[in-house]
Amino acid sequence: MKKCAVWCIVLAIMLCGCTRSEEKKSEADIFCMDTVMNVKIWGEDADNAVLDVTRMLQEMEREYAASDDASVLGRLNRAQAVTLTDAEKAVLDQALALSARTGGEFDPQLYALSALWGFSGGEYRVPEQTEIQAALAQRQWDLGAAVKGYAGQTAADALLQNAGVSCAVLNLGGNVQTVGQKKDGEPWRIAIASPRAGGTAGVLSISGTMSVVTSGDYQRYFERDGVRYHHILDPKTGYPADSGLASVTVVCRDGMTADALSTALFVMGMESAVQLWQESDDFEAVFILTTGEIYATQGVSLSECSYEVIAREK
Ligand code: AMP
Ligand code: MG
Repeated sequence: MKKCAVWCIVLAIMLCGCTRSEEKKSEADIFCMDTVMNVKIWGEDADNAVLDVTRMLQEMEREYAASDDASVLGRLNRAQAVTLTDAEKAVLDQALALSARTGGEFDPQLYALSALWGFSGGEYRVPEQTEIQAALAQRQWDLGAAVKGYAGQTAADALLQNAGVSCAVLNLGGNVQTVGQKKDGEPWRIAIASPRAGGTAGVLSISGTMSVVTSGDYQRYFERDGVRYHHILDPKTGYPADSGLASVTVVCRDGMTADALSTALFVMGMESAVQLWQESDDFEAVFILTTGEIYATQGVSLSECSYEVIAREK
């Protein structure tokens, strides 16, 4: 289960490589937002920048962990009066806008449902239909599907403002945020995990600052009577999404958009996901089906695998 996510991180770290050997590099592993994160920063201010990013990530965890009663989401979920900062209001507004954009497939208010299945702490179990309906009706905030993308974006924005940082790669538990251009002129190389076999399914080449986020049914799941129940829930049924996809990777300049879309595209399935991509111009995607086939939209640069390209209609 989580082993696969860790694999994905290790692979991404290995493949991201480094820039000029003489340039100063600083690195840290952090456990934050319920996952292992790795931060690598190059430049003369790298040491301070790593500390700043670590602090920033920990602050965002405190702010947005729905499981923490003291967080902004915890207080909203218990109907306490909360005075939101401008940044918090912008995050909640963007989450609602992304929900509207995806026809509700990204739903930032599924906390009660996720807790019912045991995915937000507690014991895994298959709930009764009546419990599912009751949990769906509760509308409790959970930004687990978007906050790592937002955190990566916020950290990237800060690093880009720092003249002492030349480039960075932040691996936030499978969400990879690249920052700036590598000095050797080569693209960043980001591995996509193989959902069933483990290891690498393919390698993305990424230029400059970008968010690369994967949602997959292998990242958190349990099995009962031979059925796999995973953590990405379909808001229409209350059950784990069963769309024929094993993973979706989204590449997008905006981190929160990348994160929310990876979840939403996974739920909606490839046909609707491709339709949304045809209507959009701000993201690219790689789809891995449960059968193992790989499809990538035409703007993606993917290597070390065979795949079919999805072309633009217009
Ligand atoms: P991700 O790994 O980014 O796809 O996010 C999955 C996490 O987001 C889950 O662990 C839940 O906390 C939450 N979640 C599950 N299903 C949805 C959904 N359809 N929309 C929004 N958040 C979801
Ligand atoms: Mg997501």
